[in-house]
Amino acid sequence: DVSHLTPPASKGSISTTSWEKDTQTIPRLQIVDEHQKFTQDLPAYLEKWNLGDAGFKYNVVAVFGSQSTGKSTLLNGLFGTSFDVMDENQRSQTTKGIWMSRGRGMHVLVMDVEGTDGRERGEDQDFERKSALFSMATSEVIILNLWEHQVGLYQGANMGLLKTVFEVNLTLFQTQKSKEKTLLLIVIRDHVGSTPLANLARTLQADLEKIWAGLSKPEGLENCKIHDYFDFMYTGLPHKVLLPEKFNEEVANLRCRFNDPAHPDFVFKPEYHKRIPADGYHIYASNIWDKVLTNKDLDLPTQQELLAQYRCDEISNVAFEIFSKKLVPFRKPILEKAQIIEDLGEQMLSIRKEAIDSFDKNASRYHQGVYEKKRSEMLTKLNIQLNVLFVGQLKNLHKKAILTFDENLKAELKKPNYNFAVAVETCLKNSQELFLNGAKAVILPDTEWSYANELNTLEEEFSQASTKARTDEFKKMTKSLAKQVENELSEPVTLALNDPKPDAWHKIIQTYTNTVESGQTTLDKIAKSFNSSSKELEESISDLRLQAWLVLRKKIDEELADTMLLLKLRSRFEEKFRYDDHGLPRVWKPEDDIDSHFKRAKEDTLTLVALFAKINLNDDEGFEIESTEDFDFKQSLIVLSEAKQIDISNRFKRESDAFYLEAKRSVVSTTAK
Ligand code: GDP
Ligand code: MG
Repeated sequence: DVSHLTPPASKGSISTTSWEKDTQTIPRLQIVDEHQKFTQDLPAYLEKWNLGDAGFKYNVVAVFGSQSTGKSTLLNGLFGTSFDVMDENQRSQTTKGIWMSRGRGMHVLVMDVEGTDGRERGEDQDFERKSALFSMATSEVIILNLWEHQVGLYQGANMGLLKTVFEVNLTLFQTQKSKEKTLLLIVIRDHVGSTPLANLARTLQADLEKIWAGLSKPEGLENCKIHDYFDFMYTGLPHKVLLPEKFNEEVANLRCRFNDPAHPDFVFKPEYHKRIPADGYHIYASNIWDKVLTNKDLDLPTQQELLAQYRCDEISNVAFEIFSKKLVPFRKPILEKAQIIEDLGEQMLSIRKEAIDSFDKNASRYHQGVYEKKRSEMLTKLNIQLNVLFVGQLKNLHKKAILTFDENLKAELKKPNYNFAVAVETCLKNSQELFLNGAKAVILPDTEWSYANELNTLEEEFSQASTKARTDEFKKMTKSLAKQVENELSEPVTLALNDPKPDAWHKIIQTYTNTVESGQTTLDKIAKSFNSSSKELEESISDLRLQAWLVLRKKIDEELADTMLLLKLRSRFEEKFRYDDHGLPRVWKPEDDIDSHFKRAKEDTLTLVALFAKINLNDDEGFEIESTEDFDFKQSLIVLSEAKQIDISNRFKRESDAFYLEAKRSVVSTTAK
């Protein structure tokens, strides 16, 4: 039987008699449980309460106020609900959460909020804020419940909570154009009467407006007034325990404002209605709860935390200023003059420690959570400043390391009998150590500083520098080897070709072989010095063979260039024709057979052309230089082409003719005397 839930047929209050007679309990529902979870059962309960089909014809009221100020008692008295009331004698705990029920004989949803009884200061404000915001956003009328003696006491009357709720309500739910109004019905409990209600109301109204003025308002709503969103109504109730009858009477009177639309102070004005059809109310309410739950603004700091934030910032700023001044003398040398400051790490550490210590000394007395957060923020801020010096010092170390490497290597290569590979390695190691030791010494604890990148680039530069040094050194070495080869080849070749004997080529090949052999000894030394692989050495040796051969060939070509060759032929011819077997100059006599002499000397001389024409390997069987793409060994053996041989022979013959004539003439002139 739900007859007790039927609304009054006509307007006007339900009679007191029928109210008191009806004792059937109206079911209540915990819509948000102690784990902050929103119920699934609201639609079923709306049915139970006969409000499922109410459309817009229902109202919502909620209550606000400190713990144990008789809120639940008041709601039960006003609406015939059966919310838990704290039992003085048993001190039984009420169940935390947001509760909802229906007003007896009224189309009214009534919300009661239960926090934790006997909570400590600061504790559990989270749930209080959330539930207060939720009920403000979902209700048309908020009963603000407080003791008379709380009036004028900011903390005692929960005004701080109200400020937060006003603020978040404004940002979260009031930014749309059409402003929703809510009625704040302020109920002053245990109103003795010595201070008239009007005076209490004035004090409270002033407090509320002061709170409103201090809100940080969202953009566009900077100038909004509390009256844009709230209407106010004040009432007092007598002491329930001392004046129970009076209390009941006043509660009954107050009830009329809720169920009699004709009452001059009827609270459910249409403009307060949220315009949510009853069957959509559960979705609407649970969405609002979600929004409330996920809102960060509600995780607001306590007064203690606010104070801590303010003071920690101040203390941190003072310490930071002193800190910054101490860093000034480091900037120029490090950042402009590229100097390396030996004990920079220790100095930075001590300056940082000083700043942190001074912060700790004053700030650690404040709220621990805030202090720790601010401390770590400060540390970050200090580290950012110090990092500039750290990076600068790394750069300078880097430069110094490269410079030191170059200088040291130069010095090493001036020492006698140095080994290049060893020299480079030693210099690299020293420079690397210089950098690493310097870099490690400037890394501060409690930072994420690293010199890895700088070290990487440095190592790249080292490897470039040593590659270049190696190439330079190698060039130097091969150049001196080439010189050595040329020196060793030059004279013997000249000698062998100036007075050519049949074994001239054999001698030259021998010279070549000796030269290559001694060059190879030099190469072995170089290879050792460069720490070359055997393959590299092999290549160098075959290169040496070829290069030495080319030097040899060039020398031969020089020696046998046309004029030189003709000179050689002429001197051989003169030797044969103009000197006798004892090496004495011939004086031609008429009986001498000049013609035969001449013929023999000429023929003998011309054999030289054949000798010079091709490098003869008859006595050096198996001698060969490996041919390459650009080098053909067989071809390189040919010194004079066929055409060249004929040309030279002809030119020599013409020259020799002059000697023949000269000889003839000398006989004529001797005979004529
Ligand atoms: P709530 O925590 O605000 O919901 O408070 P309750 O309704 O549970 O009541 C807390 C205690 O205050 C109970 O022991 C009530 O008997 C008592 N109480 C209720 N109303 C009044 C009142 O008007 N005056 C006084 N002095 N005590 C009351
Ligand atoms: Mg209660």
